[in-house]
Amino acid sequence: MNHSRTRYLQEMGIEQWVLRVPVAPKAEAHTPAAKLTLEQLQAKAADCSACPLHSTRTQVAFARGNPKADIMVIGEAPGFYEDKQGAPFVGKAGKLLDKMLHAVGFTQDDVYIANIIKCRPPDNRDPKADEIKQCSDFIAKQIELVQPKLILALGRFAGQYLIEQPLTLAKMRQSKHEYQSIPVLVSYHPAYLLRNPIDKKKAYQDLLNLRR
Ligand code: URA
Repeated sequence: MNHSRTRYLQEMGIEQWVLRVPVAPKAEAHTPAAKLTLEQLQAKAADCSACPLHSTRTQVAFARGNPKADIMVIGEAPGFYEDKQGAPFVGKAGKLLDKMLHAVGFTQDDVYIANIIKCRPPDNRDPKADEIKQCSDFIAKQIELVQPKLILALGRFAGQYLIEQPLTLAKMRQSKHEYQSIPVLVSYHPAYLLRNPIDKKKAYQDLLNLRR
C-alpha cells in the first residue's frame, strides 16, 4: 500500500482494510538437529553403504541387550554368525562372553552390547583404519543414546578407539580410562581367549573389577 495514499485516506476518516500477510516464524539461529532414536540409528546403519564392507555383508550387526543398561560392552566387528544373525556376539566368542558376564553375576538385561564396526570384514580380517573412521559415528551415537555408566572395551581395536591412543592391550588393561567422562575398562577379546584360554583367569579378574 502506498504510504501517502494511506495518509490521505486516514485524514479523510476513511477506514481501510489491509490484507494481513502471514508472518513466517523467526528461524532459530542454531536449531539442533533432531536426535535420532536407537531404532532410527539402526535403520540408518542397515542402509549404510559408506565403506566397502556393505557389499560383502549379509546383515548389519547393530546391537543386542538392554538399551537402558548401565554397562555397555564394545567389541570389534561382527564375525560369521553375527553377519548371518544380524546381532553382535552371537557366535562362539559371544557364548564365552555371556558365560563370563554370567559368572560375575550379570544377566542379558544388565548390558548393552555393540561393536565398533557394524559389518563383517571378509574372512574376519582386522578392520581397516578407514572402515573404523567411516563407521565410528554409529558407535559414538549409540554411546550418546544409551548413556552407560561404564564401558567395557573388548580387545585392542575397541580399546584404542575409545581411548584414542595406540596402546597395547596389556597397557590398556593396566589402568582405568575415560570416554567423554564415562569410565572405560579394557579387557581381553573373547575370541582371543578362545585361542589363549590361559588368560581367562585374568579376564575374569577384569570382570570382577567391573562388577565392583
Ligand atoms: N567379535 C567381535 O568383536 N564382535 C562380535 O560381534 C563377534 C566377534
